[in-house]
Amino acid sequence: MEKIINGVSRFRREHYLQNQARFEELAAKKQKPIALFITCADSRIDPNLITGTEPGDLFIIRNAGNIVPPHGSPIGGESATVEYAIEVLGIRNIIVCGHSQCGAMGAILDSHNLDELPAVRGWFSNAEATRRIMQQKYPDMSGNDRIVAGTEENVLVQMNNLSTHPCVAARLASGELRVFGWYYDIGAGRVLQFDQREGQFFDLNGEVHAASPLPIRSTMRGAAHLV
Ligand SMILES: [Zn+2]
Repeated sequence: MEKIINGVSRFRREHYLQNQARFEELAAKKQKPIALFITCADSRIDPNLITGTEPGDLFIIRNAGNIVPPHGSPIGGESATVEYAIEVLGIRNIIVCGHSQCGAMGAILDSHNLDELPAVRGWFSNAEATRRIMQQKYPDMSGNDRIVAGTEENVLVQMNNLSTHPCVAARLASGELRVFGWYYDIGAGRVLQFDQREGQFFDLNGEVHAASPLPIRSTMRGAAHLV
């Protein structure tokens, strides 16, 4: 904890005081984020860092596995936050961001024994479609390739879950909302984005992704309006 406590002091001393006017402006105005960013709780992901954004730019939902329970699930933080983002804050861009080396994906794909973690087991049932898709589509895939492909597929599954929420469905239908699927490669420092026309994830920097088996072909299911 010492590192964190000292960090709070350093933030105040070095960052806040040098940018005080900016923080006062943030406090005085209603927030107007550019996008809703939905990603995993993994500590190695820093949404602002990887997108070069500032306080006030991203409205963020984080949980294990970057999961969005579909509409009709018991009301939870995710559905309420998505609804607030769209209806109150007027957000018109949503990013669902999975990542490399995702522990949640490993547990979901391999159906780890989660008897001692009933809350986790219940939560991961929201990604059961991902597990089944992987079984059906890539039965012989193993190792890291399987985790990468599973993470990509899970991003698409959660985008589809997102599109079942009435506020999302309505804005997608009217063309007022865009939903992006991302894969963040921690070790390579790269972000890949799903291209619906190509059915693949591509490096946002347009560079060749030689160190990884990506892009692996994925097919968007049943969400014609998603970008
Ligand atoms: Zn993760």
